[in-house]
Amino acid sequence: MRIGNLSGRVALFTDQGAIDVERASNGLFGFDPQAIYARWREFIEWAKTAEGETQPYSPEQLGPPVPRPSQVFAIGANYRNHAAEGGLAVPEHPMVFAKYVSSFTGPTGEIELPSETVDWEVELVAVVGERAYQVPAERAWQYIAGLTVGQDLSERTVQLRGDYPQMSLGKSFPGFSPTGPFIVTVGSFEDPGGLEISCSVNGDTVQKATTSDMVFSIPALVARLSEILPLQPGDIIFTGTPEGVGMVRTPPRFLRPGDELVSRVEGIGEMRHTFTASTSARS
Ligand code: ZN
Repeated sequence: MRIGNLSGRVALFTDQGAIDVERASNGLFGFDPQAIYARWREFIEWAKTAEGETQPYSPEQLGPPVPRPSQVFAIGANYRNHAAEGGLAVPEHPMVFAKYVSSFTGPTGEIELPSETVDWEVELVAVVGERAYQVPAERAWQYIAGLTVGQDLSERTVQLRGDYPQMSLGKSFPGFSPTGPFIVTVGSFEDPGGLEISCSVNGDTVQKATTSDMVFSIPALVARLSEILPLQPGDIIFTGTPEGVGMVRTPPRFLRPGDELVSRVEGIGEMRHTFTASTSARS
């Protein structure tokens, strides 16, 4: 099942088009794409048999499928080959930082480059469907509503300047957290723990891996995070990027104005973004 944000309204997506949830449910569920996670099990039971008018749509109308999570977790160094390319040890505990909601955008469109050192990081994003506190990994998939594609766009100068890394700020410029095109429910995948993930710049594949190479799988991340704090319905987890980022290339390669970045995860779909030069006075 695919669920998304069509022009600010939650919709179900089929091969024929989009079904508006508020209209098809006669108001049982509202229009807000964020609100369904607080009633996820009820929503998904209704959605299994939902019928309604199917409308055509274009990808440009899609917004972030989870637009206002209460918490946005991101995991660093979560693929062995990416840790190695960055000269980092494979972490003993998940390396966790935040991405701020003001950096959210949808799965298409233009993103402004604040500098000449912006890098790509395609990631699988997990969406929490039920409050999870001190949940063991064996039961953790039950707490995940679905999966989507994300980019953890990263301004490497801010991230790495000074004596202390600034992961959360360097990865939270406006537009730096696109997600989409849809949430695909966990039960829709044959193996939700082994999906091909890739991204390309101007048609040149720069990252390609499988999510089974994660150091901490999604169930392991739910267990480790929820040891400390409760995960809330509608929270999201950016689960880390595989090898192939631009920063560690020789010479380094960063996103340039006019570049097109296409980000894909098997069984979910793709996002497509283009980049524009900075229009601010920031230097
Ligand atoms: Zn990342």
